[in-house]
Amino acid sequence: SAKQAQRELVKCSNDKEKQGSFDFIPTKQDLQYAIENKQLILYYQPQINMKTGCVHGAEVLVRWLHPEFGLIFPDKFIALAEQTGLIEQLSEEVIHLAIMQSVYWQKRNKATRLSINISAQNITSLKLPEQLRMLVKEYEIDPSMIVLELTESALMDSEVTSLDIFTRFRLKGFQLSIDDFGTGYSSLSQLHKIPFTELKIDQSFVTNMKQEKESAAIVETCIMLAHKLNMEVVAEGIEDKATWDLLSSEDCDIAQGYYIARPMPAEQFDKWQFKG
Ligand code: C2E
Ligand code: MG
Ligand code: MG
Ligand code: MG
Repeated sequence: SAKQAQRELVKCSNDKEKQGSFDFIPTKQDLQYAIENKQLILYYQPQINMKTGCVHGAEVLVRWLHPEFGLIFPDKFIALAEQTGLIEQLSEEVIHLAIMQSVYWQKRNKATRLSINISAQNITSLKLPEQLRMLVKEYEIDPSMIVLELTESALMDSEVTSLDIFTRFRLKGFQLSIDDFGTGYSSLSQLHKIPFTELKIDQSFVTNMKQEKESAAIVETCIMLAHKLNMEVVAEGIEDKATWDLLSSEDCDIAQGYYIARPMPAEQFDKWQFKG
């Protein structure tokens, strides 16, 4: 069955994350077929409040469960979706699946804040804000439980319209996060014009902070900057306890990374507990 096939894939993907997708180069038609035929599935990676040790939420990460090639990671198809215009449909599907999962958890008293990645093209029209507004209304979801993540580099592509759209998201109560911070080239003046509620330090700095003074300095500065601008700060890519301890001593708010847990299917997330 599909469930069983997925379980098998999850097992092997835990040993070797990128397995399954090695020599598959999808075309636009492949991806379109996948979206329309429900081959996209969502994984969830826990985020921990470093001060309380409680689960703060989860980041939603899309995967393509291909009947022949197995579990395909987003690095193989997000850029394709962006280049071919399929990103609108893809994001619509991701948001729909994430909201359905959120409804399920809410009904079981496991309401979980979900962080959803969106692309620059998703904020060039009002379609996505409108879809989200209707979904949260229909399913009675608190919009502050939904965080929209946009990478710092995506910001530069579409500055004028996006400012207006971001403001609409915030006015409706959604949270906004700036992802991969430190790798784009957005100016600080732009950063404070857009009503971000959260800053995610790029994982390259986090992964290197233990052995590299420069990375450690960047991480420390990002944490101070975020706090001065009244944003919460997330460190992603935490792979060991030493890095957790460093971040914790630097007053970082939220932690995410393999040290805590890898991204996992919803049923696994249900049973997962943080042993920190
Ligand atoms: P991202 O949003 O920066 O997500 C973090 C990535 O880092 C994820 O890769 C996650 O699995 C990985 N990661 C988490 N903890 C660690 C760690 O401790 N060490 C290392 N080495 N990696 C870690 P993933 O799932 O392959 O996603 C890659 C990128 O694809 C994401 O980067 C995001 O930009 C994009 N993406 C994923 N899902 C979606 C989606 O639904 N829509 C859009 N537009 N983009 C998506
Ligand atoms: Mg992200
Ligand atoms: Mg990131
Ligand atoms: Mg990234």
